Amino acid sequence: MSTGEELLRSRGLRVTRPRLAVLDVLSAGGHLEVDEITRRVRQRLDSVSTQAVYDVLGALSRAGLSRRIEPAGSPARYEARVGDNHHHVVCRGCGEIADVDCAVGSAPCLDPNVAHGFELDEAEVTFWGLCPTCQARRSADV
Ligand SMILES: [Zn+2]
Ligand SMILES: [Zn+2]
Ligand SMILES: [Zn+2]
Repeated sequence: MSTGEELLRSRGLRVTRPRLAVLDVLSAGGHLEVDEITRRVRQRLDSVSTQAVYDVLGALSRAGLSRRIEPAGSPARYEARVGDNHHHVVCRGCGEIADVDCAVGSAPCLDPNVAHGFELDEAEVTFWGLCPTCQARRSADV
């Protein structure tokens, strides 16, 4: 397990306390909105602005240390699970997001009939449905 400092240095990024704090928050797992990331970073650092958190997330994403996902109708979320071509299942009821491993394996996992000459590197796949909690609520609502 490499430390945040090693991760940052391995991507040529300067080691700063906000970057370490954001990496630490993301490494706990999940798909977090910027507000939630900011709240958790503030538990670790005395003061950090929301803009600073956005800047850090941008730098981490460009360096391949975090991934930004933005399901339709939902604010952007960030996660530390990168580089494995996994997809997401999103609940239509509450917005809950879970990881699903790619059924095929390597990107792009789907081949279009016509690629229009593009060199493809990713197919963004989002599965939509109802999570167990929302299924139970739906049955109870009837
Ligand atoms: Zn749900
Ligand atoms: Zn994910
Ligand atoms: Zn796939």
